[in-house]
Amino acid sequence: MRFITANQIFDGNKFLSKGSVIVLDEKGCYSETISSDSIDAGKIEVFDGIITPGFVNAHCHLELSHLYNQISQKTGFVGFAKELMAKRFSFSQEIIAEAMLIAEAQMWDNGIVAVGDISNAVDSFQYKDQSEMYYHTFVELIALNPQLADKVIAGGKELQVKIKNHSSSLVPHAPYSVSLELMQQIAKHCQENTTLTIHNQESESENEFFMRGTGRVLELYAHLNIDISYYKPSGKTSLQTYLPSLTSDRNLILVHNTFSSKEDVEFAHGFSKKLFWCLCPNANLFIENTLPDVNLLRAQNCKIVLGTDSLASNHSLSVLDELNVLMRNFELNDTEEVLRWLTSNGAEALEMRDKAGQFIRGKNAGINLIHLENKQFAFKRKIV
Ligand SMILES: [Zn+2]
Repeated sequence: MRFITANQIFDGNKFLSKGSVIVLDEKGCYSETISSDSIDAGKIEVFDGIITPGFVNAHCHLELSHLYNQISQKTGFVGFAKELMAKRFSFSQEIIAEAMLIAEAQMWDNGIVAVGDISNAVDSFQYKDQSEMYYHTFVELIALNPQLADKVIAGGKELQVKIKNHSSSLVPHAPYSVSLELMQQIAKHCQENTTLTIHNQESESENEFFMRGTGRVLELYAHLNIDISYYKPSGKTSLQTYLPSLTSDRNLILVHNTFSSKEDVEFAHGFSKKLFWCLCPNANLFIENTLPDVNLLRAQNCKIVLGTDSLASNHSLSVLDELNVLMRNFELNDTEEVLRWLTSNGAEALEMRDKAGQFIRGKNAGINLIHLENKQFAFKRKIV
């Protein structure tokens, strides 16, 4: 048995009252919370800082880890996409595998215990199947041509059956790369109690493509030599165009949201009550040199979660680093609120409330020790 306390204990939802002590069983699993008065003080391990449950990374691409330090910064999403596609497949399987192992260890060392991870291929499946962390794989589908929808769904299902030991779902990549027909097929094929995700409004060009059919998305398709003459703009923003083609019955994690307006958020909330707004600020600075309007999302009661995106567009895989970027750039004074973004909100989004994001009796959801000073969090250590 271990008896653990600290200056403050955050249980995934709120700070516990002063004098609370967390009791762990022989296996390191959470047993109960007791008062320090009810136990011999000599048995209690006292830590300096804030104790939290393990963190949840709601958006990652483990399979892109070998692109760390390979892509130019601040070239916009089209520049980023072009360079990523040019370099992605020019590495050996050994290098790709080693990079994933290093990235996994980095997430673990940064206190992450659960991950929502995007996959276009099988490369990362075995590492996620064997991992100490809890994974949900989003098998990402791409096809703007509506005639390809059936074929792409079949390909996604073929990939999905190769996942042995963790949950998965078929998801659309982004509004500008997936037809409404394919979105509808994805919604039709998704299982109960699963989670969908989509990269949403990551650039101004994405909205422009839907509003007027112009802008840098056309440059991307021209570069790829893909004819999209069939495409007709809707005259509405991307989110307001595609969202009704997805389902309101499943959790949906909208990733980035850097160019989502108040009207977009209101529209989205009118469509679904199961939305999560995932912010990856380091990737936004890396690619577009911009940040999402966090206070707009907070004012609209959006459920916020955090993601690292991949090492192709980030310097580290730490959701605490992501939070620190937001803390530096916005007035975020409610510590309980921002810690929920790192823990219980992410677990809820990934349908993992039974194993992560809070202290759960009989489970090891991780215990981190962090420190807050001058509006910046520092990661001190994993206690469990
Ligand atoms: Zn991403």
